Amino acid sequence: MPMPPTVVLVTVPHATGQGLSVRTNDRAALRAADALVQALAAHRDIAVRLLVGDEARRACDLNRAERCDSPARFKQTYREALARRPALVVDMHSFPASHTWGARTAPAVALLYDADYRSLAERAARALAQRGVAVAVVPGAIDVNYIITEASEARVPNVLVELNESLVDVTTIIDALAAFVATEVGGSRYVWPPYFTTT
Ligand SMILES: [Zn+2]
Repeated sequence: MPMPPTVVLVTVPHATGQGLSVRTNDRAALRAADALVQALAAHRDIAVRLLVGDEARRACDLNRAERCDSPARFKQTYREALARRPALVVDMHSFPASHTWGARTAPAVALLYDADYRSLAERAARALAQRGVAVAVVPGAIDVNYIITEASEARVPNVLVELNESLVDVTTIIDALAAFVATEVGGSRYVWPPYFTTT
């Protein structure tokens, strides 16, 4: 009997926000998340679930992924997905190039982590750096982001990915990220519970 696929949960909480007084729109995050889903589709043993918080869109299926169309529903759906214990949560965001994360120049990618999963973020950073991606590793994703906080509380490995919005071509970054995710959740690093099977 074939093993059920390992589930990777990709979240894009800030996919929109036009008209709001605060910046909640991560302009590059959804495009990057879509590309990550496509890149991971090559791995038959991995099923990706994509949750998009976006009031402007209707809930719909994308490949083996799901979008949700309101913040409340997004949060509820996230909690339900987390309760089913995905192998990894990748929380996708993007930032304007004026934000340098404390460095002299803005990196292409910033990885934010909760202390419990610092080593995971550092492995991801090494994987990206090996492909020539300028990456910053930043502590403190917890307490400001319920996606990361709740994943850590549930002991589900997680990382928050911030992508520089000034990048034109993110192919290298997404390919490197997909390769890292596949390596991270593959093999015998974890024992996966049954989740769902695709037909
Ligand atoms: Zn964001």
